[in-house]
Amino acid sequence: MNKAFLFDLLSTGSVSGSETVLEKKIYDYMQDKADKVEVDELGNVTAILNPEAPFKVLMAGHADEIGLMITAVSEDGMLKVTRIGGIYTTTYPGHKVRIYTKNGVIYGAVANSRNIAKNAELKASDLRIDIGAKDKEDALRYVELGDTATFDTDVREMLNDCITGRALDDRLGAYIVMEALAEAKKKGTTAVCYSVSTTGEETTGNGAYFTASRVKPNICIAVDVTYTSDNCGIDTADTGDISVGKGPVICNNPSIHKKLNELLRACATKLNMEIQTEAANGRTGTDGDTMHQTGIGVPFALVSIPLRYMHNPDEVGSLKDVQDCIDLLAEFFVCCSETPDLKPF
Ligand SMILES: [Zn+2]
Repeated sequence: MNKAFLFDLLSTGSVSGSETVLEKKIYDYMQDKADKVEVDELGNVTAILNPEAPFKVLMAGHADEIGLMITAVSEDGMLKVTRIGGIYTTTYPGHKVRIYTKNGVIYGAVANSRNIAKNAELKASDLRIDIGAKDKEDALRYVELGDTATFDTDVREMLNDCITGRALDDRLGAYIVMEALAEAKKKGTTAVCYSVSTTGEETTGNGAYFTASRVKPNICIAVDVTYTSDNCGIDTADTGDISVGKGPVICNNPSIHKKLNELLRACATKLNMEIQTEAANGRTGTDGDTMHQTGIGVPFALVSIPLRYMHNPDEVGSLKDVQDCIDLLAEFFVCCSETPDLKPF
């Protein structure tokens, strides 16, 4: 695992719709690891192996993260915001943020007070970001409406291969699909392999739609994070019995293809790898739902990285799970060298 590159990705701002800086890093990183690397108009980066083969497998991890967008500036120079994706608004007051402007990052502090701290119903429109501006005019010299912001946090290593940081969801997934493709190349897969770091999953799903519509894969796998039951107040009836550090998670739900799950299980068995299973109703809430419904319809599966405290600035995951996901998905690319029969009977 290239930890330095992974941690660089996790330290880069990529709020949904503004993923360009991060996508360019992935584009550069994959140049010598794939047969071809492409970028489209949205900034989706797709790495490709064996472009001439008949059976196409597409794996997607989303490069975007949740955050804030600057919507207005008050006369005293404080920034007002709206939310991008499913943030926990109450986690912002009292914390530092990075604002990504066209001239680079500037830093801000999210206003807090006893009254704000007591407000459990706090909305994004209640937040105020102090950038030290003298007034509105001063602030607008540095910040443009539509600029995005995230917590000013970095990734840290913890005990037992655990890491903590913001937006491991789903920059871990974007990293995993790329490394899985690089590994599959070394293992000599002959399937057409596509790995994409998608834009927009937390908001519009446009990255997955553009990519799957254009690639027209035979099957696809979404690689994202999932909730675990190994922390306070979680009911296993909602999440299943899922823990950080116990391996990749395969999902059973009405839209996920059972034969693809069987293939994933066979790959795990071959690798002697422990995997976990979650069950969910309806849609998965991932790029998988979008890719599934493109073109003439695409069978899909979901491989998830167990994650504590999803959408908080201190998400916790495991590097061991990340490596297991890479190995499992590389093996899956290899097993697709033989076209699988996906008809249920
Ligand atoms: Zn996600």
